[in-house]
Amino acid sequence: MVPGARIIVLGKQGAGKGTQCVRLSHHYVIPHISTGDMLRAAVKLETPLGQEAKRYMDAGELVPDEVLLGMVGDRLAQDDTMDRGFCLDGFPRTVKQAESLDLLLAPLELDVVIDLQVPTELVLERLASRRVCVDCGTNYSTSTPPRVAWICDICGGEVIQRPDDTEAAITRRLALYEKETAPLVSWYERTNRLVGVDGQGSPDDVTDRLVRAVDEHRRPEARGQ
Ligand code: AMP
Repeated sequence: MVPGARIIVLGKQGAGKGTQCVRLSHHYVIPHISTGDMLRAAVKLETPLGQEAKRYMDAGELVPDEVLLGMVGDRLAQDDTMDRGFCLDGFPRTVKQAESLDLLLAPLELDVVIDLQVPTELVLERLASRRVCVDCGTNYSTSTPPRVAWICDICGGEVIQRPDDTEAAITRRLALYEKETAPLVSWYERTNRLVGVDGQGSPDDVTDRLVRAVDEHRRPEARGQ
């Protein structure tokens, strides 16, 4: 089996993080951990955490750390991530979350933090046409819909436009990205863990670039795991 890896993929909303993290998780046989998917599952189940998170999510605001960190800590403590690693998608989003993540992982370390780079104009286009399966989270778009009208190819779930893909919420999330997440990119750069990868082009080309970047930057001990 290929060695595992501990990977973070950063990037603006609509940069293709979700799709690429699924692909990386298959390639390296590691869990794909998306805080957005975990929160959406909690909202759907109407758990107390989901009820608390929903109002922030619908407005495009960040869910408070008190809600989020326990959820992420529990997930990272499970056997699959301890054994193989993970591809983290949507977390961390702030320097404070990144510091908490380092503490949660210690003494283990990240292999690589990827900044998936896509210009804002393209991201806006992608978000406007994005559609997603309510059950399994598979992404589609108006130009690449499921085979049968708005029924997920993978699980048969309903494919919809995300409730937070409204113009107002998208604008707010992009502003928050500049304010909170762009400094995080510089923070990882300063700690020598960041690799920029061009997120434009076909999904297969982007995946090839990502795998090359991970293989080049993986810690030497992880290569032989
Ligand atoms: P995503 O699917 O990653 O776009 O996340 C959807 C929404 O979930 C975000 O707009 C936030 O409201 C919330 N969320 C997901 N991850 C985080 C995080 N790391 N910190 C705070 N809020 C988050």
